[in-house]
Amino acid sequence: MRKICSAGRDRDCITRRDLLRGGALGLGAASLPGLVSDAEAAGTRAPGVAPEQGAGYDPAPLADHHQHLFSPALAALLSPAPPAAPARPFTAADLIPLLDAAGVRRAVVLSTAYIFSQPKKKVENDDERVKADNDWTAEQVARFPERLIGFCSINPLKDYALQELARCAENPHLRRGLKLHFGNSLVDYHDERHVRQLRRVFRAANEHRMAIVVHMRTSSEAKVAYGREEAHIFLNQILPAAPDVPVQIAHLAGDGGFSDPLIDQTAAVFAEAIARDDPRTRRLWFDVATVTTSEAPQPEKAARIVSRMRTLGVRRILFGSDAATETWTPRKGWETFRKLPLSDAEFRIIAMNVPPYMRRDRRARLRHPPG
Ligand SMILES: [Zn+2]
Repeated sequence: MRKICSAGRDRDCITRRDLLRGGALGLGAASLPGLVSDAEAAGTRAPGVAPEQGAGYDPAPLADHHQHLFSPALAALLSPAPPAAPARPFTAADLIPLLDAAGVRRAVVLSTAYIFSQPKKKVENDDERVKADNDWTAEQVARFPERLIGFCSINPLKDYALQELARCAENPHLRRGLKLHFGNSLVDYHDERHVRQLRRVFRAANEHRMAIVVHMRTSSEAKVAYGREEAHIFLNQILPAAPDVPVQIAHLAGDGGFSDPLIDQTAAVFAEAIARDDPRTRRLWFDVATVTTSEAPQPEKAARIVSRMRTLGVRRILFGSDAATETWTPRKGWETFRKLPLSDAEFRIIAMNVPPYMRRDRRARLRHPPG
């Protein structure tokens, strides 16, 4: 089976960008429309492997904290020009068997509605399209209320962002959280208007008691500045606007892959703040979606990922696998993550970590910093 990576820097394997060339670029580096094979989508598990045989997966993570679905409208938007095959939608009913195959009970479905407002897509009436896509996500997760929770998504820089956020806050299937993708939305930490607007959005999410999942890496394609300095701007100017809700930094502060030393240096800013018990870090979590996608991770890179997770604290690390493809599934995500040189005890902690937004009791969702 061909290996895939989520970001263009891992030269030892085929990138997800290569797989969909063009079609998925709107997602930023970390996701693409579900290209789950017919066999997987129709069956209940990854080909040839029964979950009960998966001793190596014990304990399976309680939840996948970084998942996506793709509506028919989004698949159409992301489809390459004919004669290339169009991208296929990926529904909640497609995702559930993949979770089953991994032994993962629950997942957080992060809406991908923000793609309709990606600047370079120039979609007309994008506000209406974003609404419709958030609503589609809500309808999908509502079909599996015991398994899936949904997060609203917006391009935070749009003038309708706060309005859409308020609308999501009223929807029981979207109100637990907000997903932001700074790369896709072309956020620039050095643009004061952007920072001011992000503060407004963080403050509003905090007021609605919505958790925030943020892909904080800026667009590498557009070469928007990113690194330690920008992490300090995030920590000092943006994060304090949401002091009461969990904030989950996606992909360990990168965009999938961890080969670029810049990502580790950026994540180090948070580790340093955590080490000095900076109160702004109390509700910070980090997901590991597509940080490693290799069956045989390069030892130096694997050691860097492990050491960074330890300095952030393994109790703050959440398993996430990101959008499924033909060759990339939640099971594969956990399988490759298990190749990292962590101890069994550490794997167990990460598998069992559950952030407050996953808890069923609303009051419990507002307590319990990761500590
Ligand atoms: Zn993602």
